[in-house]
Amino acid sequence: MAATRLVETIEALDPARYAITLIGDEPGYSYNRVLLSSLMAGDVAAADLPLKPPSWWASAPHIRIVAGQAVSVDLERQSVDLADGRTVPYARLVFATGSSAIRLPIPGADLAGVHVFRTHADTERMMELAASGARVAVIGGGLLGIEAAYGMAKRGAEVTLIHLMDRLMERQLDHEAASLVQSALEKLGIEVVLNAQSERISGHGAVEALHLSNGRVIKAGAVVMAAGIRPNSAVAKAAGLAVNRGIIVSEGLETSRKDVYAIGECAEVQGECCGLVEPAYAQADILARRLCGNDTATYVPSATAAKLKVSGLPVFSAGNFLGGEGTSAILLTDKTQSLYKKLVVRDGLLVGAVLVGDTADAAFYLRLIRECTPIAPFRSGLAFGEAYCAVPDLLAA
Ligand SMILES: Cc1cc2nc3c(=O)[nH]c(=O)nc-3n(C[C@H](O)[C@H](O)[C@H](O)COP(=O)(O)OP(=O)(O)OC[C@H]3O[C@@H](n4cnc5c(N)ncnc54)[C@H](O)[C@@H]3O)c2cc1C
Repeated sequence: MAATRLVETIEALDPARYAITLIGDEPGYSYNRVLLSSLMAGDVAAADLPLKPPSWWASAPHIRIVAGQAVSVDLERQSVDLADGRTVPYARLVFATGSSAIRLPIPGADLAGVHVFRTHADTERMMELAASGARVAVIGGGLLGIEAAYGMAKRGAEVTLIHLMDRLMERQLDHEAASLVQSALEKLGIEVVLNAQSERISGHGAVEALHLSNGRVIKAGAVVMAAGIRPNSAVAKAAGLAVNRGIIVSEGLETSRKDVYAIGECAEVQGECCGLVEPAYAQADILARRLCGNDTATYVPSATAAKLKVSGLPVFSAGNFLGGEGTSAILLTDKTQSLYKKLVVRDGLLVGAVLVGDTADAAFYLRLIRECTPIAPFRSGLAFGEAYCAVPDLLAA
């Protein structure tokens, strides 16, 4: 996604400046990975996935798409070697290799029927499985695990969602919000098992059961691992670039080597790798400007937000949603309506928000967090949303 955004932005800024070769190891044109959850849930079709129609690629003669896997980079020769033996020379190189889903290294993880949720191909396999009414154990109660469980249950699978922590999405939600999400999943017939460590997967050639460390055995014909992602940085590391968790880049998105860049989930900026598309796109925009001659374009990370929709229940979380010392919280809740709003305030500024049930004002709250807007003039109306915060310049924005 980051690479497509980069070439699109370069095309808009200065189309004839570069002859661009886009190397990708997934089949077909680049697609909107974010929509895979909606595809799984049946809310969009596969035809909705491509980021750009074939006609767009055809109308960009400076862009050449090469289907293949890059296996090594020679920084001295300035070339990329592909798995099939081809070599692509470059003057400037951009890594936009994203992440891979982590496969938990537990016994049985290599059995047939163990899946991850990262690509269109993964999604098609999981959709088929769900339609056959399979019993599925999903490991990981973060955003992706919840979306996998929800989509598969909606398509007919019998789903158990297993999570290590004491609440779902603990990195985005507090206990109250997480329990509303859990209830929404349970209403769909999904069993949610918390505080559960997956120990091993058993089966004769294929998955038959998932064993938890507390002795419980969950019968399942398939296991989906949604236990996090790892930046694809091995090729960069082998080439000799500075790599920590991701490929280390400056605020100009340049790696430890001049004219070699990294953007998106594979890049590590100020010690952080992103896992969302918004920062990946922001990095692509900055790099496009740099590559088109703007030497001062700088990527500055900003507060990110998570969004989710489970069975019609929208969820939003941003910033410091837990609060803590020096903070106070504004709460608005009605459990009978599955409605929960928590706004965390510190030193007169909104620093975090969790919304469940009504996320209409999510963008407003995120703007207040990002722009560090003093909330004193409209604090009493803040919980009710933008319409109750009569600050002219905010309303006009
Ligand atoms: C199911 C799902 C739902 C998501 N939902 C959301 C959401 O709601 N909101 C959100 O912000 N984000 C979401 N994300 C995350 C979002 O998709 C990513 O943040 C985004 O795709 C990152 O873009 P990227 O370009 O860094 O990586 P990618 O989009 O993964 O692109 C990297 C590409 O490089 C290819 N590649 C890797 N190594 C090589 C190699 N050596 N040679 C050739 N090609 C290679 C990969 O196969 C891949 O096609 C979701 C992700 C998934 C899987």
